[in-house]
Amino acid sequence: MGGGGDIFSQMFGFGGGAGRDRGPKKGKSVQHSIKVTLEEIYKGKTSKIAVNRDRICKKCDGKGGIDGANSTCEGCHGRGMRTKMTQIGPGMYSQSTGPCDECNGTGETIDEANKCKNCNGKKVVKEKKVLEAIIDKGSPHGEKYVFHGESDEHPDREPGDVIIVVNEQPHSVFKRKGADLLMEKEVSLLESLTGCDFVVDFLDGSKFRVQSPKGKVIQPDQLMTIEEKGLPFHKNPYRFGNLFVLFKVKFPETLQEAQVKDVQQVLKGMKKNVDANMDASETVTLIPFSQDQKNTHCQ
Ligand SMILES: [Zn+2]
Ligand SMILES: [Zn+2]
Repeated sequence: MGGGGDIFSQMFGFGGGAGRDRGPKKGKSVQHSIKVTLEEIYKGKTSKIAVNRDRICKKCDGKGGIDGANSTCEGCHGRGMRTKMTQIGPGMYSQSTGPCDECNGTGETIDEANKCKNCNGKKVVKEKKVLEAIIDKGSPHGEKYVFHGESDEHPDREPGDVIIVVNEQPHSVFKRKGADLLMEKEVSLLESLTGCDFVVDFLDGSKFRVQSPKGKVIQPDQLMTIEEKGLPFHKNPYRFGNLFVLFKVKFPETLQEAQVKDVQQVLKGMKKNVDANMDASETVTLIPFSQDQKNTHCQ
């Protein structure tokens, strides 16, 4: 194996070659973002993530070879870094400092015959591990789940952490703010005047039926509230946020003369629209929206 990644991680661990004597340093933490839908945030989710990380070779106990096989690299005198002169033109040289080629930046060499066969002298071997993150109900976007010491291990430093970050995916119907949800609902002018009755496919897989109060006219851009049809509160999942419904009233572009007459006769004779599918497990009622229904802080 080897390659650029190892060199960079070694450079990181040594802090540029000067930090070796200051005791073990902590290795780099690795972040993994996981996509989580709003449905999954509603219900909670167990997410598995496979990490391929370095672990200290058990055969050589992280020494890279048998006892006495290690010696200070002659190329860099154990510094791990080396200053190189590169000819860039006739009589012109550029000076650069980088990890030593001979020891791969480790500052030591292991004699070939006594190298550990298991890790080929690298002191570490790749190991795959599946980590299980339990995404809480109502988990906020950007929430971090830390797996301490599960990243790369190395003899010279403490292993870094693996951090799993919740990346909430946009939802086609609901927008989220804290534990509250917002949805837009388009209604016809007729519905806005005579009342609306529709079904919402909810995040838990159920359906509920929404009815406006009798005699209540829905204004364009009116916000109404369905209590406790938001997300579970984060870390308090028996309480729920609210669902706010923003009504968009679709006005007819034109009315025929006869219709105008009908409207003038105090809106008589109009038929109400109903959802084709009223197969809902529950019927809920819209109430007027107010600011104190918000549960934005509850996460
Ligand atoms: Zn060297
Ligand atoms: Zn080994």
